[in-house]
Amino acid sequence: MQIVLATHNAHKVEELRRILAAQLPGIEVLAYDGPEPVEDGVTFTENALIKARAAAAHTGLPAIADDSGICVDILGGAPGIFSARWSGPAKDAGENLRLLLWQLSDVPEEHRDAHFTCVAALALPDGTERAVTGEWPGQLLFQPAGVNGFGYDPIFLPEGYAISAAELSAHVKNQVSHRAIAFEGLVPVLREVLGAP
Ligand code: IMP
Repeated sequence: MQIVLATHNAHKVEELRRILAAQLPGIEVLAYDGPEPVEDGVTFTENALIKARAAAAHTGLPAIADDSGICVDILGGAPGIFSARWSGPAKDAGENLRLLLWQLSDVPEEHRDAHFTCVAALALPDGTERAVTGEWPGQLLFQPAGVNGFGYDPIFLPEGYAISAAELSAHVKNQVSHRAIAFEGLVPVLREVLGAP
């Protein structure tokens, strides 16, 4: 059985392939290279479903998409769905990170709680839809640390770790991150909806 993952990010395709290969060996994950819809939802779930729905309609196959971002408690959950373009439409990851650090420059450690969120959505050509949320709790640092990962990883201190997400190996991050939690959570959903063994 084939499904498409609606992302142009090869790392996400590999991550999902790895999870599914271990738990649902009958499912083959294809990368989606069709048109991208306008993401005009106001929640992670809406945006993930918009992407999954478009890919299912374009390919005629069950489609998975994800939407993710960082949510800072003291900012009421922002940047949230605006994480990729927090500093403007250029989607500059370095500028996004610097702006967020600057905004929180006088916020003490005890008020710097944050979490990454990922919603993994499944859409079938027949209109069936499901969504699973994964959250990775932690705190924002005062200075970037580490060179692995991407986006806000250098300023995110995951709960239970003494190093930033950008100092974790990809192997460890891929086992504990919001995306790993959401994709893992999608496994039983796929089993149920697709009738996969
Ligand atoms: P997207 O879901 O791939 O569009 O990601 C949205 C944005 O959220 C990214 O551009 C990053 O700024 C941020 N983000 C999502 N997941 C992560 C992560 O695992 N580490 C760091 N930043 C992330």
